[in-house]
Amino acid sequence: MTVAGLDSSRLRVKITGRSLPRCADEDLGFGTVITDHMLKVEWSVERGWNAPMIIPAGPVGLHPFAHVFHYAVECYEGMKAYVDANGDVRLFRPRMNMQRFRTSAKRLSLPDFDGEELLKCIETLVDIDKDWIPRKRGFSMYLRPVIFSTTPWLGLTQCAEAMILVLCCPVGPYFKSGFVPIKLSVDAKYIRAWPGGTGNVKAGGNYGPTVISQANATAAGASQSLFVYDKHEYVTEAGTMNVFFLIRNERGVKQLITPSLEDGTILPGVTRQSVIELSQQWGECETIERMIPFGDIKAAFERGDVLEIFGTGTAAVIQPISGIVYEGVEYKPITEFNDKALQVRLTNFLVSVQYGDIDHPWSHVV
Ligand code: PMP
Repeated sequence: MTVAGLDSSRLRVKITGRSLPRCADEDLGFGTVITDHMLKVEWSVERGWNAPMIIPAGPVGLHPFAHVFHYAVECYEGMKAYVDANGDVRLFRPRMNMQRFRTSAKRLSLPDFDGEELLKCIETLVDIDKDWIPRKRGFSMYLRPVIFSTTPWLGLTQCAEAMILVLCCPVGPYFKSGFVPIKLSVDAKYIRAWPGGTGNVKAGGNYGPTVISQANATAAGASQSLFVYDKHEYVTEAGTMNVFFLIRNERGVKQLITPSLEDGTILPGVTRQSVIELSQQWGECETIERMIPFGDIKAAFERGDVLEIFGTGTAAVIQPISGIVYEGVEYKPITEFNDKALQVRLTNFLVSVQYGDIDHPWSHVV
């Protein structure tokens, strides 16, 4: 028997006879409303990838022994579809998501697939459920590809059966009332990622264990944790976002710094990469990826040299950060949060690309 690759030319579509309930745009939360259809592709070690199927969104039946339930053999992606002024649907750098999805799958010993072929299937899905994408600025449709092991036995072995699903949900702006800066608190107790672990891939198992840290952040009067590790307290990520600091170094040189990918603890964010590339092109400051002991940031705060802090990610694009609580003391950046701030200009640029106001190679018309 031949082992088949994931092949978009075998895609089968079954249109639903009954549309799912919708809600008013204003009431859209994040990930609460599912659209009418989903993509499902099944894999087995003997046959390879089955024909991809777009089917009515609904429950999937799995064997209770399925590896995903017991050993968290699962990873996912997060991307968004936007409607531009001409009514065309656009994705933002989707090939980066496909590449990361494959890297994550590989780390979890899940089967590999052709990212271009999966992207073609996703484009068909998005086109079918296009009228679910809210047209208002700031609104979009979040796409959640997920792959997991459905291998139906309890022994922890190589994956023998797996499934990809791609789910869609209309979402509103992350900030209902515009940009609202949030506070972070350095979590000294719970470690999100460490060298040799899985921080650099989007394994679901990275996320569940961080929920507990939320309580620590709330107790410190913050809304998200800034994760660090090691005795040097290397900064990793802000909740589920990459983190950037605009600082002046000891020699007064302006630098945009973010943790480097070298130790494998950082998720290579699509937004992170885009911010790095834009900052390099704009050339207003040095753009630096490096290991960042929190002590370096604390020292910059104490010199009055932290100008801006922000998180980056698909959900929020850019999340302004108003302060960081460390050992009970809150440290704040010195720049007024206004239109001149680097993070606001970066946001405006990225959003203009995402909605196709600016013609840019990062925006992918479906
Ligand atoms: N870090 C983590 C831990 C994340 O889950 C995400 C969201 N995918 C990001 C960073 C941001 O990545 P992206 O810009 O690709 O959404």
